[in-house]
Amino acid sequence: MPKEKTSLLDNMIGVGDMVLLEPLSEDSFLENLKKRFDHNEIYTYIGSVVISMNPYRSLPIFTPEKVEEYRNRNFYELSPHIYALADEAYRSLRDQDKDQCILITGESGAGKTEASKLVMSYVAAVCGKGQEVNKVKEQLLQSNPVLEAFGNAKTVRNDNSSRFGKYMDIEFDFKGDPLGGVISNYLLEKSRVVKQPRGERNFHVFYQLLSGASDDTLKKLKLHRDFSKYNYLSLDSAIVNGLDDAANFRTVRNAMQIVGFMEDEVQSVLELVAAVLKLGNIEFKPESRCNGTDESRIKDKNGEPTDEESVLERAFSYRTVEAKMEKVSTTLNVAQAYYARDALAKNLYSRLFSWLVTRINESIKVSDVTKTRHKVMGVLDIYGFEIFEDNSFEQFIINYCNEKLQQIFIELTLHEEQEEYIREGIEWTNIDMNLHLLSNNQNGILAMLDEECLRPGTVTDETFLDKLNTICAEHQHFESRLSKNSKFLNDHSLPHNCFRIQHYAGKVLYRVEGFVDKNNDLLYRDLSQAMYKANHSLIKQLFPEGNPSKVNLKRPPTAGFQFKASVGTLMKNLQTKNPNYIRCIKPNDKKASHIFTESLVRHQVRYLGLMENVRVRRAGYAFRQAYEPCLERYKMLCKRTWPHWRGPEREGVEVLMTDLQVPADEFSYGRSKIFIRNPRTLFFLEERRRQC
Ligand code: ADP
Ligand code: MG
Repeated sequence: MPKEKTSLLDNMIGVGDMVLLEPLSEDSFLENLKKRFDHNEIYTYIGSVVISMNPYRSLPIFTPEKVEEYRNRNFYELSPHIYALADEAYRSLRDQDKDQCILITGESGAGKTEASKLVMSYVAAVCGKGQEVNKVKEQLLQSNPVLEAFGNAKTVRNDNSSRFGKYMDIEFDFKGDPLGGVISNYLLEKSRVVKQPRGERNFHVFYQLLSGASDDTLKKLKLHRDFSKYNYLSLDSAIVNGLDDAANFRTVRNAMQIVGFMEDEVQSVLELVAAVLKLGNIEFKPESRCNGTDESRIKDKNGEPTDEESVLERAFSYRTVEAKMEKVSTTLNVAQAYYARDALAKNLYSRLFSWLVTRINESIKVSDVTKTRHKVMGVLDIYGFEIFEDNSFEQFIINYCNEKLQQIFIELTLHEEQEEYIREGIEWTNIDMNLHLLSNNQNGILAMLDEECLRPGTVTDETFLDKLNTICAEHQHFESRLSKNSKFLNDHSLPHNCFRIQHYAGKVLYRVEGFVDKNNDLLYRDLSQAMYKANHSLIKQLFPEGNPSKVNLKRPPTAGFQFKASVGTLMKNLQTKNPNYIRCIKPNDKKASHIFTESLVRHQVRYLGLMENVRVRRAGYAFRQAYEPCLERYKMLCKRTWPHWRGPEREGVEVLMTDLQVPADEFSYGRSKIFIRNPRTLFFLEERRRQC
């Protein structure tokens, strides 16, 4: 064996594959993770699943030399690395024509987004070269900084936290050269535009624009450089250590250019970002009317009035309600005017974000006239399970999505092993039952929220909770103070305006405030119309429903409905592909290197279901391969099969295994495949093959 190549069995710190861990317990599992983490080994396998620990510092393991080292090597040959997974997925796509998906899960700050970028850059490095191909690669990679600027923010958990879910299909031709891709985005956390939790920031782009744009640009946009001038920018954490907003602004501008944005499009986008900032500075004062009510008026400002104000002035003072074919204009009070202002800012920004995704897709889409089938690799980087102190509609939606993903994980990887799983007595929280509670079409929580939102009459978050209390009270994973389920009536830790759900990853307390509103996601028609009237083609384009000639009385689907539908489509897409899992773990909540907080890691190991994962792998088989490729790969190890085997392939494999004296309990013969129980047997075969 050549010296420079390390085998998994040599120089291994701890155990590289948890399947081989002896004895197996949660403690030994954690000990092994810690030992490896302490020695900078951030990757550990569970069979073909990669566990990735966030090192919170740059390690010298992502160099071009490393890429070369892992290129075209067998998964178990080298020490665990995300590149091994990427290589395996890519080769299986290229050589065996199997569409792949890379599913990256873990909580906020665990390293999902970095992992997705590592996979993409690895694939970009090993797939075809040439001018055209390089351009495609560059565009695919440069879509990242653009989306991160507009969709990421500093949070308490992560200085570069993705506030949207992302799925990207990369398409390849028959040779394995990239042709282009399609990005889907899921639920941007738009409430952040108008308000940020303490210690957090608004989306990066606002700070980048103010710090990085030239004086000239800022003047044109009528913006001040000073963050403190803007109500929508939180100040206590505006400066983030290690984050150079000005430099990032240049990176983003450059990336937009590479992706294919025209200069006037970039200008339009920046104008919208500026408009959102300025919206936040509009203030209102009450003006008494003769009938004794107060009506809101935009406060005069000493500074220069912005163009947007004149367009919007009316929209912030009145609201037109259509009742029985009649238009009635009602006045807005000051609180309603602020509400309308914030709703508009959130809508403007989130529509801009969706437009960016559509625009990027236009650039990167495959323009293939031959219509041949493409090979596809999907990469999913979606918000992980969230349990905060204060959980709202957003967390509810995110956690619903995670239940779905966990279900897919179980369906795709573990159900295959169902027999062993039952024999081993492995228990799983029943995900199906939870999904029923959350998303059943008749009486799931999302359906009831929709029903409440569409019901005429006075609808409030409290009436929604009442409804849950009557309908979900019996469900064993639902708890609330007022639910009929009397055993919780005495649970005083449960506030009146909350309900609690036992997700597979833990119990989460949701506060109902805002559920109805966020699900409705409606914008007063006057605001859409004001936007449509704006003398700005991009803004006009973003508010097509504001076109007065389009009398569309049908209300748009609710946020929950849309999300459920898009998650449904995503799941269908994933199910057609071969899954590759990266399970990310956050070692501490200080964003610090070298610290391994055991309790925190233990919690993640539990809810990611990693122990069950190992047990099932051990009970089942680590490796399976159809007889033909197996014989093809190893026939040189046996005189009777080399160079040609002239019988049925299965018999050839039997001869091979007997000749190599692989113990009989290490594998078994299936109808079309051989199942190898232990990766060790695989290493053995691979070693022998290399020595040949
Ligand atoms: P998530 O997407 O899971 O919320 P990120 O991928 O954004 O988390 O990672 C959070 C931060 O952790 C990154 O900004 C980076 O500083 C650090 N980090 C994550 N993965 C790595 C890695 N492989 N090497 C070095 N630092 C990392
Ligand atoms: Mg992320």
